[in-house]
Amino acid sequence: MACAAWLQPISSPHAIFPSLCRRPIFPAIFHRFTTFSSAGQPLSAANRFTPVHAQAKRGSSLKEDEVASAADVEFEAPLKIVEYPDPILRAKNKRIESFDENLKKLVEEMFDIMYKTDGIGLSAPQVGINVQLMVFNPVGERGEGEEIVLVNPRVSRYSQKTRLFEEGCLSFPGIYADVQRPETVKIDARDISGARFTVNLSGLPARVFQHEFDHLQGILFFDRMTEGVLESISEQLQALEKKYEDKTGLPSPERIESRKRMKLKAAAGFGKS
Ligand SMILES: [Zn+2]
Repeated sequence: MACAAWLQPISSPHAIFPSLCRRPIFPAIFHRFTTFSSAGQPLSAANRFTPVHAQAKRGSSLKEDEVASAADVEFEAPLKIVEYPDPILRAKNKRIESFDENLKKLVEEMFDIMYKTDGIGLSAPQVGINVQLMVFNPVGERGEGEEIVLVNPRVSRYSQKTRLFEEGCLSFPGIYADVQRPETVKIDARDISGARFTVNLSGLPARVFQHEFDHLQGILFFDRMTEGVLESISEQLQALEKKYEDKTGLPSPERIESRKRMKLKAAAGFGKS
């Protein structure tokens, strides 16, 4: 199965990616959607991938996540994309234990809006449903590539090797910037019918998975950007904050400006005062 080098099921009794091998779609995707940054070279120790992942772990306990009730998975079609800085994107996402018709319908609707908005991946909190569910199709076209559904995913291994790559996010319309992430990940998850499986991802699927997996932890892609990259999209983030305030009449629950000030303070050694 040489053609499956980029997506290699390790133990999947219900092989969820059987048709991936039908044609070698992967190399074309990189040319079509984006290109590797020239800065994607071996990193210095200071730049290594650690920051947000470590933070996310610190906040969570070892006990299992709360299980979603039927009400938690209720939705109205058509779904709408939740944009930054809506607090839904930072809320805790519950574990799914009911693999029923409603879940299948939700997945269908998520694919529907993902294709309509030209996305290649979408997590449930991005449509206002705080559960551990993501869908993606690295080709981004209905009827092409492979539709992948992951429920309650966990990462069991990240590669040491990382790469800088330009990302976008449906919750940040029009914003694209470089994010550093491990090149490969090993994942444990359930499929749409509840069957457990393990899979290794590399290349674009690994990238899309990690971006969506972050959403399930309440982590947004700009949380992982370097200060310089963040600065380059700062005005666009503030425009989204303003849009949220105008739309809801509420103050933005987070502000990129205050985050930058906190970083500056910490850098200047005022963090403890
Ligand atoms: Zn996103």
